[in-house]
Parts: sequence; C-alpha cells; structure tokens
Amino acid sequence: MPSSSKQAACSSSRSFSHYAKNLADQIVMLLVQTLRSVAEAAILYAGYCARLIGEMLRLTETTARTILKKLGRPIENEVIAAVFRDSHVQLLEQIARGNRYTDVNSLALMISRRIRRITNWERGDLIGKGSFASVYRGSNEDGSFFAAKSVSLSEHKHLCHLENEIAILKRLDHENIIQCYGTQKDGEMLYIFLELVSHGTLEQAYKNCRFKESQVSHYTRQILQGLRYLHSCKVVHGDVKCANILVTESGRVKLADFGLSKSMEDHSQSSKLGLGSSFWMAPEVATLERGGYGFPSDIWSLGCTVTEMSTRKYPHYNARDAFNLHRSIRSGEGPAVPDYLSDTLKDFITQCLQPHPNQRPTAANLLAHRFVNESSCPQPDLTELLLLF
Ligand code: ATP
Repeated sequence: MPSSSKQAACSSSRSFSHYAKNLADQIVMLLVQTLRSVAEAAILYAGYCARLIGEMLRLTETTARTILKKLGRPIENEVIAAVFRDSHVQLLEQIARGNRYTDVNSLALMISRRIRRITNWERGDLIGKGSFASVYRGSNEDGSFFAAKSVSLSEHKHLCHLENEIAILKRLDHENIIQCYGTQKDGEMLYIFLELVSHGTLEQAYKNCRFKESQVSHYTRQILQGLRYLHSCKVVHGDVKCANILVTESGRVKLADFGLSKSMEDHSQSSKLGLGSSFWMAPEVATLERGGYGFPSDIWSLGCTVTEMSTRKYPHYNARDAFNLHRSIRSGEGPAVPDYLSDTLKDFITQCLQPHPNQRPTAANLLAHRFVNESSCPQPDLTELLLLF
C-alpha cells in the first residue's frame, strides 16, 4: 500500500475511534443527566433517596461499561473506578445544587434529618398554644427532642388546618422553613412532629428587646430566602407575621404555622381554611379582587412584618375598630411607616406595600434590595477571628 493511503487509513481509524469515544462519553453524559432528573424528583421524598442514588449509580456504571465494551474500548478497572469515583461526587454535587443545597454535605445533612424516626416518644411540657393547636416538647427514645403540634381528631375545623399544614410541610425542605419529621395518630389526637426551635417567635423576641436595623435586616433576609423557596414550590404561606416566625438561639429564623398555606397547584385544597390575620392582610385578599391570595399577598404581609419588627407595634395598631381597619386595608392603605427609620428600610417597606399586587417585587427581587443585601451587614473582623485560633 502506498504510504499516503496507509496514512489515510490510519488517520481514518484514529478518527473513528475518536468519534466512538466521544459518542460513548456523550451517551454516558445523557444517561447521567436523565438519571439526575429522576433523582431530583426523588429527592423530594428523601427517605428513599440514599438507597435510590446508590442503585442509580450502579446502574449508570453497568450501562457505561456495556456501552464501552460494545464500542471495543478496553475497560481497565482502575480507570473506570477513578472515572466513576469522580462522577459519583459530581452527580451528587449536581443533585445538591439542583435542590438549592450548597454542596453534598448539606444534602447529606438533609437526608439524615429527614430519616429521623420518631417512634417511641414521650410528651413533655406545653411550649405554645395557638388558636387551633397545642404544641408540646417531645422526647424521642434516641435522646433527641422535637416539637409535637397536636389537635383533637374530633375538632373538625382544627383538624382541617393541621392536615393542610402536614400536606404542605411534608413537601418542603429549607433551612428557613420549619422542618417536619413526621406525623402520628395517637388515640384521640393527631400530631405533627416538628424541629424544636428553642427561642420562641420573633414577636416574643421584639417584645423582649428592641431590634437594631441591622438585626431587622438579618431576619428579613432569611424570611425572604424562605419565601423565595416557598414560592418556587408554588406555595403561598398566607399568614406571614412575627408570631408565625420562630427564631433559634443563633439567630436563624424559620417560617412556621402553615395551617393557612395554599398550594397554587392543588385546586382540590379546602376553601374552608379561612384568611390570615387581618392586620397583615393584603388589599386583594380583603377585597377578594385581583386574584385574592397569591405570592404578592405574602410580600404585602412581609412589608407589614418588617414594620412590626421595626416599630414593635402591630400594623394598623391605631385602627379604631375592625370596620375601620378593613376599610383602610381594602383601600390599599398600608401600616404607618415612621419617619425615624432609615431611607433604605423605608424604601424596602414601601416596595412591599404597593397597593397593586402586580407592582410588588417578588421575594427573589427583594433579596437584591440594599436593605437586605449582604454588603450592608457588618462584616466580621478577620483579625478578631484569627485571635480565636
Ligand atoms: P395560630 O393561632 O397562629 O393559627 P397555631 O394554632 O397554628 O397558631 P402555632 O402558631 O403553630 O399554632 O404554635 C403555637 C405556638 O407554639 C407558637 O406561637 C410557638 O410559641 C410554639 N411553637 C410552634 N411550633 C414550634 C416549634 N417547632 N418549636 C418551638 N415552639 C413552637
């Protein structure tokens, strides 16, 4: 064979093997992407997630081996093991990020929290009482503690609220939203097991001591992060106010009390749940015009909540009676915003309290506002941190 034809044959065989290699890589990539979507859906039901991911990775590896074999690529165990060791991590990283976790560790933490089993437990002291439920401290046989929110099975109206809260909370997982560990029917009672938040509500906290604006900004940013997640899951909280936001010892806040929440996708949801608290209610909810409840109505309530935190007073605290209160809300009037607040804070509140729901920014938009922007917070002094070591 002339040397030029030999070279051509050789180069065409090289380009075929290059093509085959690329094709195999692409097929594997596609497979991994498809399985990733399945995993993302499955992760919402994360009790099964760890096992599923394991099985999925085994399946991916077997399929990849078969494809490579068919293409005549030699399979060296060390090579494939190394490739898949990295892919496992990459895949988990992708799943974590796709589900709004920063890395695999936070994903693993979520899985371990989810699979907390509460089986043999004791009811402790009463830690709170709302208009329909009683909340007790619970102690689990593994030594951990939790909150057990309960209603009597015979109180149908109350039961309806707790069942709604259970259905909503079971679907959610975010660090600024109260975590649900499970439920139990015990004799005459229905219980929902919740993460125990030791420091009470934001309402109790501001009554106890006045918040600085930097503190209000810190809590508001976290409430917004919770709301952005909630709204991305197509859920409206429906009753945002300081009394429904719990605060941990380290200053992390958690949206709680989902009894009036509404899934914008579930049209079978009971309409008997009622409306949120009047003082924080958006004009379109009070008038039932312009769509009533929706994501913007949570933003209005957030504006009222931020005013409440900053002034230590309920919104519209000076309304003479219920009639006058409803009249001002229906006319699109928000709570009074005192002049002594900073311009940035006043602007944030004004944006939340736009009378027309379509003009209110979303939770995601508001996270970019200067009032809650990371840079407006005091940064830790590096030298002070270094002294700790
Ligand atoms: P509402 O009258 O607002 O509808 P509710 O009957 O739904 O109230 P919650 O507001 O959920 O009840 O709870 C009543 C009180 O119990 C809260 O104000 C709070 O003090 C306490 N509480 C609720 N959940 C927890 C928790 N996970 N950890 C600690 N305390 C909690």
